[in-house]
Amino acid sequence: MCGIVGYIGTKRAYPILIKGLKRLEYRGYDSAGVAMISDSGDLNVYKAKGKVDNLTEYCSDKDVSGCVGIAHTRWATHGEPSARNAHPHYSQSRNLAIIHNGIIENYADIKTKLQAQGVEFKSDTDTEVLVRLVEYIMEKKNLSLLEAVQVALHQVIGAYAIAIVDKRDPRQIIAARKQSPLVVGIGENEFFLGSDASPIIDYTDKVVYLEDGNIAVIRLGAELRVMSILGEEQELKVKTVDINLGQIEKGGYEHFMLKEIFEQPECLKNCMRGRINVEGDHVTLSAMIDYRQQLLNAKRIIIVACGTSWHAGLIGKQLFESLCRIPVEVEYASEFRYRDPVIYPDDVVIAISQSGETADTLAAIELARKAGAFVFGVCNAIGASIPRQTQTGVYIHVGPEIGVASTKAFTGQVTVLSMLALCLANERRTIPGEQYKEMVAELTRIPEKMEEALKTNEQIERLAPIFTYAKNCLYLGRGYNYPLALEGALKLKEISYIHAEGYPAAEMKHGPIALIDSEMPVFVIATRDRLYEKVISNIQEVRARGGRVTALVTEGDTQICKFADHVITLPDTLECFQPLIASIPLQLLAYHIAVCKGKDVDRPRNLAKSVTVE
Ligand code: GLU
Repeated sequence: MCGIVGYIGTKRAYPILIKGLKRLEYRGYDSAGVAMISDSGDLNVYKAKGKVDNLTEYCSDKDVSGCVGIAHTRWATHGEPSARNAHPHYSQSRNLAIIHNGIIENYADIKTKLQAQGVEFKSDTDTEVLVRLVEYIMEKKNLSLLEAVQVALHQVIGAYAIAIVDKRDPRQIIAARKQSPLVVGIGENEFFLGSDASPIIDYTDKVVYLEDGNIAVIRLGAELRVMSILGEEQELKVKTVDINLGQIEKGGYEHFMLKEIFEQPECLKNCMRGRINVEGDHVTLSAMIDYRQQLLNAKRIIIVACGTSWHAGLIGKQLFESLCRIPVEVEYASEFRYRDPVIYPDDVVIAISQSGETADTLAAIELARKAGAFVFGVCNAIGASIPRQTQTGVYIHVGPEIGVASTKAFTGQVTVLSMLALCLANERRTIPGEQYKEMVAELTRIPEKMEEALKTNEQIERLAPIFTYAKNCLYLGRGYNYPLALEGALKLKEISYIHAEGYPAAEMKHGPIALIDSEMPVFVIATRDRLYEKVISNIQEVRARGGRVTALVTEGDTQICKFADHVITLPDTLECFQPLIASIPLQLLAYHIAVCKGKDVDRPRNLAKSVTVE
């Protein structure tokens, strides 16, 4: 869900568009493209896979004239990253071109209907469907571009920020948004468009942040008009931007990591969008339709992953075992690949990696494929090596993750594994239909509960300075919360350089309890579940040795506050989804402790975002 830039005015559009795309590079992308209406009235579209520099190289011998244009950096969601799938996309007549950030959920339905009317498609994207639909409506109903966009947006379900140009009317750009951001800049006889203000601030500080469900009619020589999809004129709220580039990129947050922590409710909605029905009681994964037998017949699941993804895998193990009754092994990819493991043809190997490029995970996939296993990928980056080398899989769709310490990718992975486990459990009839529906419904409520959990931010910010002195920390949890204890400890290690260990709470007495004294902060995930009473006993054991306990508890808890030094309260949910909620305060804790220690949170020492070496 990446970058949009637009320009209409009296200057040459091309340099402004390219500079704008470069400003948006921080958002991450896999391809880029521009469309300009040339001085001679042609609509030229140029696209390239990879960096914006590849695009400029491609354009070096092309006609880049014209004073109106739109440009895009793509983070693929539908269709692999390639020049063909890059934006802008033409309409069938090539009179219109569109750029789009977001996902059109019902694109497949619309595409089928348009194909039946003879409309052809050149790409695999959801975006192309929208521009072809707009043109179809224009022609069929004899409507203007604006009217056709209004009608089309009524028919689409999903999230979008779009901009469309029509070569027959080079004095106009139509833009619209729902859930994806879009900003219009107002200059002297010129207008700008951007996903945020960063491509605009060199030229003007007067901007309008489009609101959800609004359309902007950007017409040269006229006032900017903003209206609802229904055509009701909206009051123009012009703002003056006085923030710098760095602040814009981080969406007003101090670091990418904090921005990504706060993005999680939205990311999980994107992850579930189009997969959980609107009634919120059924999951459909295309992988389950295409490879139903292979997945249903799995005798065993082997999850291979590294780092944070491995922790997500440990949660996946509990989900698949308890809901689907399939035995699961979770392996570090780096160990698995060299261990000569036993792999059977009826094993399903699930490879999890945010970047989809993790070298050890790729090697583990190769090994599994050679042994004849069915390999399923769980990745974020579309078209990366892992999705290409697995038979099928599910993208987590949480958007580019810039902070090196993974946050939203972890919760996206857990959400995908939850959806897959629910799908399998329902098909295998290993849970009753009612329970299945209730669980799916609860999963759809998680983003809202995460919003609640994010309200602990201020409390955690106040607590953080207490822990900066620590040399070691212990994280305890049981059941689904044990992998979360590992993940909480990893976050702290990664960005604050404090040594931390995650342990199953009851195992502590078999060793680590010897480390406990008043200098050792102990973080206990003690949400209300089957093992709650037992975790309370574990807290008592820590207290008895002078340990200082910070507990994550479920709202309404009246017991733990009696023994814990600090209590962080979280909304209630099903036990298996608790890690999705409880990961938020653990991420915030690591973040604020690292900030208090003055560490470079987004670029911790010695770490790389994508580990492409073994
Ligand atoms: N869903 C669109 C695509 O895959 C837009 C992706 C984006 O936001 O960059 O092409």
